[in-house]
Amino acid sequence: MSFLLLVEDNADDAFLLMRALRRKLPELKIRTATDGAQALECLFPADSSEGFRPDLICLDLNLPKVSGFDVLTRIKRCPDTQRIPLMVSSTTTDPREIEHCYALGADLFVPKLVGYFEFQAIMEEILQYWWQHKCLPPRTP
Ligand SMILES: [Mg+2]
Repeated sequence: MSFLLLVEDNADDAFLLMRALRRKLPELKIRTATDGAQALECLFPADSSEGFRPDLICLDLNLPKVSGFDVLTRIKRCPDTQRIPLMVSSTTTDPREIEHCYALGADLFVPKLVGYFEFQAIMEEILQYWWQHKCLPPRTP
């Protein structure tokens, strides 16, 4: 069983992406967070219960409540979550922001600049690469 955490505040983007992923990767379980605080609560619950540990995280940068940069920082600073491959997708074209994502430990930056269907196709390819070619790190028990 493989798990994806999708952090995306745009409901239309999240819905269309999930629909496409379910078609391409039906075995994939997708959990969504619609803002940065929800993403952190899912990974690092305030009641100190066990956090969700996905196989891959797909993170939007412009998020309400807690920014994508802050979510990324927290994930990559925690020994429990830093090994989880994380891809950032954003409409930003600012090279300093893209550089900052990589400096904070992002594994991949995917621009959202292209048309929606093109973006969807790119995301499908990337996720297929990770799952079907078994490029994900093994799950720790
Ligand atoms: Mg957004």
